[in-house]
Amino acid sequence: MDKKDYYELLGVGREALIDDIKKAYRGLVLKYHPDRNPGNKEAEEKFKEVTEAYEVLSDPEKRKIYDQYGHAGFGPQGFDWTEDFSRVRTDFSDIFGDIFSNFFSSEGFNVRGVGGKDRGGRQGGSDLEYRISVSLKEVAVGVEKQVHISRFDGCPVCESTGSKTKKGKTVCSACQGRGQVVRNQGFFSIAQPCPKCKGQGEIVTDPCSNCRGTGRVRNNMHRIAVKIPAGIESGTSLRLRGEGDAAPNGGPRGDLYITVFVEKDKRFERRNSDIICEVPVTVVQAVLGAEIEVPTLTGKVKMRIPAGAQNNSMLRLRNLGLPRTTGYGKGDLFVKVALIVPSRLTRQEKVLYQQIADLEKPENSPEIKKFREEI
Ligand SMILES: [Zn+2]
Ligand SMILES: [Zn+2]
Repeated sequence: MDKKDYYELLGVGREALIDDIKKAYRGLVLKYHPDRNPGNKEAEEKFKEVTEAYEVLSDPEKRKIYDQYGHAGFGPQGFDWTEDFSRVRTDFSDIFGDIFSNFFSSEGFNVRGVGGKDRGGRQGGSDLEYRISVSLKEVAVGVEKQVHISRFDGCPVCESTGSKTKKGKTVCSACQGRGQVVRNQGFFSIAQPCPKCKGQGEIVTDPCSNCRGTGRVRNNMHRIAVKIPAGIESGTSLRLRGEGDAAPNGGPRGDLYITVFVEKDKRFERRNSDIICEVPVTVVQAVLGAEIEVPTLTGKVKMRIPAGAQNNSMLRLRNLGLPRTTGYGKGDLFVKVALIVPSRLTRQEKVLYQQIADLEKPENSPEIKKFREEI
């Protein structure tokens, strides 16, 4: 499949400035984010595409490579989405600021009510999203992951008040708390946001030097343990209440969303809670039946291949799949028989196969009989 042009995906020109790229991406996230389009595969794909485009074009180094070499600049596989997904922390607060909490609450997520403010009208902290990837084997049993996130924490020096004396904000003296000042220009009077309090109406008069009066400080290495439940579906977001950004000046914390992506496994193919695993079986084993060892997500088990097993037939091992997301029971493991025809025989094997050939009457096989009648 040909990759789409990153600039076209974001709908920006080649000369676009970073702010234009951010703005374009913001619009596309609001449109295609999986949480706004539950179960919509097309939207999910689109979201991945535009996010990939954004991750490249918003990074000056990657953008330079892309401008020069196109998709080929990221190796034969192109931009490695799955790998980058686990590495890149997409901090949506960077592009959304505080509107990110609105974005979730508007979709029925019980964040904090309209505007991301608490009942007292205080501005809440931003919600954050962090993406991690887990292996299918980890999904089989559930896993605890340590993640490091960058977030705002309350300033310990001023106890999140922003002021040295911990008295918090006071009414701005320049605008008497109105947040606006009126300037007369000739016949006109123009209302402008108050330059002293930046339109807030309140101001910290003795700003804390540790947080410069904001009441919060950035913590780039916040460590948090995340329990990934067994059986989780790829793309699921786990919500960790109150683990997002601290709010400016002591409002409620935002939430942290951990979006989990399940890596593809070389051996096991997932179908909801069932697992398919292809297992090589020799012709003789299939003809006579045999006991073989098969891998499962949690170790090997022995199983019986019935006599006459056909190529590509599926043998079910109950309850050896993934735990169901409903919390009850497990899926099954399907062993897919992959018949192996020997390409090299010992002298003795050849003699024995020849004896079978002499005995075998192909015309007695119902399949061959039918085939011959039809040609
Ligand atoms: Zn402080
Ligand atoms: Zn003011």
